[in-house]
Amino acid sequence: MVPEPTIGIQVAYLVASILFIVGLKFLSSPRHARNGNLIAAAGMILAVGATLAVPGVRVSPLLVTCVAVGGIAGVWAARSVSITAMPQMVAMLNGLGGGAAALVSCAGIWRATHAGVSVTLFQTLRVTVRHDAPHGASLVELLGVLIGSVSFSGSAIAWGKLQGVISEKAIAGAWTRFVNAAIVIAILVSGAMTLEGGGPGRLAVYLVGSLAFGVFMVIPIGGADMPVVISLLNSFTGLAAASTGFALDNRALIISGTLVGASGTLLTRLMCKAMNRSLANVLFAGFGAAHAAGAAGAKAAAKPVREIGPEDAAVLLSNIRSLIIVPGYGMAVAQAQHAVRELADMLAHKGVDVRYAIHPVAGRMPGHMNVLLAEANVPYTQLFDLDQINPEFGHTDVALVIGANDVVNPAARTDTASPIYGMPILDADKAQHCIIIKRSMNPGFAGIDNPLYYEPRTMMLFGDAKGAVTKVLEALKML
Ligand code: NDP
Repeated sequence: MVPEPTIGIQVAYLVASILFIVGLKFLSSPRHARNGNLIAAAGMILAVGATLAVPGVRVSPLLVTCVAVGGIAGVWAARSVSITAMPQMVAMLNGLGGGAAALVSCAGIWRATHAGVSVTLFQTLRVTVRHDAPHGASLVELLGVLIGSVSFSGSAIAWGKLQGVISEKAIAGAWTRFVNAAIVIAILVSGAMTLEGGGPGRLAVYLVGSLAFGVFMVIPIGGADMPVVISLLNSFTGLAAASTGFALDNRALIISGTLVGASGTLLTRLMCKAMNRSLANVLFAGFGAAHAAGAAGAKAAAKPVREIGPEDAAVLLSNIRSLIIVPGYGMAVAQAQHAVRELADMLAHKGVDVRYAIHPVAGRMPGHMNVLLAEANVPYTQLFDLDQINPEFGHTDVALVIGANDVVNPAARTDTASPIYGMPILDADKAQHCIIIKRSMNPGFAGIDNPLYYEPRTMMLFGDAKGAVTKVLEALKML
C-alpha cells in the first residue's frame, strides 16, 4: 500500500505549496525576486523533509548520500555559473527534473507489472507498493515516462547547443520525418503493450523511444531559439512531475508540478508573443539559424550611416536633460552593464533624467537585461518595460541603444514582409537623437537589416559595448 501521510505531513505539504505560490508571485518583480527564490527554496526543504517523515520511508545512508551530493553540486553550480551561461544551467536542472520524474514513473510501472520483484530504488524510498498481483501500467505513469524522458533528452540537446558541445544549427531534413514517424509508432505500440502488462522489453522500448523523441524534437531547432524550447520543456517537466505526483499520491508533487507546468507554458506563450512568432514557427521554422545578413546585409553595407566618436557622444550627452538607455544582447556579450551604470550615474549626477527601457525578449533569455542590470546594482525604479516607456521616447533627448538591434527595429512596425513584422518594439527612433553602440553593421538574431541605422537622427558609435561606453565615460570626465 501507499504509505498514508499523517495529518501533520499533509499540513506541511499544504504550507510548502503555499510557499511555492508566494515564491512564484514574488518572482514576477525584480525587486522581490531574490526573496521569492528563498521562499520557494524554503518550501522545497519543507516538502522534502515532510516526505522523509512519511511513515514507512526509511532514511537510508544511500538516500542521505544522494541528498548531500545533489545539494553540494547544486550550490557549487549556482555559485560558479556565469550569468551568460544561465540558460544552459536552467536546461540542465530542468532536464534532470524531467529525468527523475521519468525514472520514478518507470519504477512504478515495473512495480505494477512485476509485483513481488524487488526494485532497489523503491526499497530505499518505500513509497509506491500498491497491489499484490502483477497487472498493467497506469496511463498516468506512462505519461510520466513519456513527458519526463522527452524533457530530459530534449533539455540535454538544448544544453549541448547552448554550451557549443553540439552544432547550434538547425539539423533537419526529409529523413527526420521518417525517423520521427518510426519513433512515434514504436512509442504507441510499446506503450499500449505496457498498459496491458508484460516484460521489461516493452518498457525499455517505450523509454528509449521517448528519449529519442526528445532528441529529434530539439535538434531541428536553431541554437538561438533554445530559451523558448527550454521554457517549453520546463512546462513538460512540470507535467511529468504532476503525473508522478498522481502515481505516488503525493499532493505537494501534484501542486508543484502543476505550478511549473503552468508557469512554463505561460512563459513560452509570453516569449512567443514578444517575438510575434507562433510556437510552431519556433519549433519547425529553423528561424535565426542562418544568422547571415544575406541580401539585406549586402544592402546595409552599401548605405551611408552617420558615425560619431566617443568624445562627440560625451559632448552630446553632457548637454541633455533626458536619456533612455536601451540595452540588448551586445551589452550582455560585452559584460558592459557595470560601465553602463557608471555612465548613467554620472549623467544622473549632472541632472539628466536617466531611465532604462527593457524589452521582454532583449538578449537571449527571459529577464536577461533585468538580471544583468540588477547585478550592476541599477535601481529597479529606473527600469521600465515596453508599455511604460514607449510613450516617453517622443519627448526624450537621447535614446542610447547599447548592443540592441531587433528590439528597436522599426521594420517590425512598417514592413509587412519583414520576419519580425508585428513584434512589439521599443520606439527608440522617436527620440530626438539616437546613439547606437555596436561593433559593425551586422544584423542581430533575426538576421535582418535595421532601417533605424540610416535615420538622419541616428548616430552610430562603432565598438565593443564595454569599450565604447568606457571611452564615453572617460571623455565625459574630461569635460
Ligand atoms: P539582437 O540579437 O537583435 O542584436 C544584438 C546586437 O548586438 C547585434 O546586432 C550585434 O551587432 C551587437 N553586439 C554583439 N556583440 C556586441 C558587443 N560585444 N558589443 C557591442 N555590440 C555587440 O539583440 P536584441 O537584444 O536587440 O534582440 C534579441 C533578439 O533575440 C530578438 O530577436 C529576440 O526575438 C531573440 N530572442 C530572445 C530570447 C529571449 O528570451 N530574450 C530568446 C530567443 C530569441 P554587432 O555584431 O555589429 O556588434
